[in-house]
Amino acid sequence: MAMPTHACINGIESDNPSWWEHDYRGIPLARVCDDCRKTKLARYRPEILTGYDEGDVDEAIVTISLRAVRCASEQAR
Ligand SMILES: [Zn+2]
Repeated sequence: MAMPTHACINGIESDNPSWWEHDYRGIPLARVCDDCRKTKLARYRPEILTGYDEGDVDEAIVTISLRAVRCASEQAR
């Protein structure tokens, strides 16, 4: 049975053994093998892979605005 291929470096199909890399929340980021893992994951900020912290501005804004919406809708009840 042939190994399933994945799009390796520069999108070239490769039948190297590959797996999904996920961010720390379990969201699939990229299909990788030993050859392209480093290249592909280099595109992502370290906190995507290891976890967000309070200093991650984008995430904090989203979280705060969601909380604000939730509070507003609770008060409306
Ligand atoms: Zn690869």
